[in-house]
Amino acid sequence: MAVQAVERAVSADRPFGPAVALSCRECGERFALGPVFACTSCFGPLEVAYELPAGDPEGLRRRIESGPANLWRYAPLLPVPAGVAAEPNLEPGFTRLVRADRLARELGVTGGLFVKDDSGNPTHSFKDRVVAVAVEAARAFGFTTLSCSSTGNLAGAVGAAAARAGLRSCVFIPHDLEAGKVVMAAVYGGDLVGIEGTYDDVNRFCSELIGDPAGEGWGFVNVNLRPYYGEGSKTLAYEICEQLGWRLPDQLVVPVASGSQLTKIDKGLRELVALGLVEDRPYRIFGAQAAGCAPVARAFKDGHDVVRPVRPDTIAKSLAIGNPADGPYVLDIARRTGGAVEDVTDEEVVDGIRLLARTEGIFAETAGGVTVGVTRKLLELGLLDPSLTTVVLNTGDGLKTLDAVSAGPRAVIRPSVAAFRAAGLG
Ligand SMILES: *Cc1c(COP(=O)(O)O)cnc(C)c1O
Repeated sequence: MAVQAVERAVSADRPFGPAVALSCRECGERFALGPVFACTSCFGPLEVAYELPAGDPEGLRRRIESGPANLWRYAPLLPVPAGVAAEPNLEPGFTRLVRADRLARELGVTGGLFVKDDSGNPTHSFKDRVVAVAVEAARAFGFTTLSCSSTGNLAGAVGAAAARAGLRSCVFIPHDLEAGKVVMAAVYGGDLVGIEGTYDDVNRFCSELIGDPAGEGWGFVNVNLRPYYGEGSKTLAYEICEQLGWRLPDQLVVPVASGSQLTKIDKGLRELVALGLVEDRPYRIFGAQAAGCAPVARAFKDGHDVVRPVRPDTIAKSLAIGNPADGPYVLDIARRTGGAVEDVTDEEVVDGIRLLARTEGIFAETAGGVTVGVTRKLLELGLLDPSLTTVVLNTGDGLKTLDAVSAGPRAVIRPSVAAFRAAGLG
């Protein structure tokens, strides 16, 4: 990893703040910060390398705590300019970390159970975090059109962020997404295009568009801006630790689509240790998938290093990536930290949504049903230790996946007490 204990003041005119280069995750070769995402030597993915402000953890902690109540409080650890918080943006992040005692009782967790509820972001999913950082990169590179391939939430997050930043957007989704996600992707006024195919087809199409004059000057947040985009997920790790009183959790249950979020949460946790902001102690990261799209869970359980692509068929559409770019790194992290990658059926996803709603008053989208369902399964399998502090991620809002749950009134009656009694409810 590229945390270097270099004490060098980062001047305000650096468009990427403490970031100094891109480095290849496979071979370590370094590249200048630019809109590139693959190593020219080995085709490995590139990630942002930093000179982070090491040497004064107390000063850094104070600086973060006195920052804004959104993800820009962590600007000193992100590839963004020092004045980023003042730019027009959606100000995502710093969402609730909910102590979930009633859910813990149902599941038999005694060591403290928390839900990190990212449905509280401006467009109601965790994607506002990654987009916020990618928009800064787009600004730095002079891109005037923002784009992405999306399983739904990203399209809405890009549309809203572009509207707020005064940029054009043109986003691509599989044509058969949930109505809530389609409306949210279109309402901010950018162009929305449905593609006849799966997410993996959409993603391949976007890669082609980058090499074509039609996509010239476009910043695809999760393709040519992917190294910067990924860094936004680190803020989940920072927030969880800060909200636990600058302490690492023992166990985290994280949803896996492309695997970017899980790998960057691990990167964020390791940075906090390297910077002396939290005490170094072991943590385990668990990945959660839906059985109808579980290529990483399959590889984990089979003991493979290679992730074999699948054709998705699940109600958890936000996680429906059949060929996950960061799948192998998810396997590495789960194995290195003593975690696991598990999957649950669509029925268990719905049970998870209902359980979280009934116990904690949090209405999660299907991805949250996946993490809650997988948490329950991991406990049953004895893979998750109930006596340890555990954080479960809810990354999206149930209002976007209403069709997944059937719920409604107990009765429809005339407005009279007699009718209420007659219905057997009085
Ligand atoms: C995108 C997304 C994720 C995680 O995606 P990765 O590609 O693995 O980073 C998780 N939950 C929701 C709701 C999402 O939209």
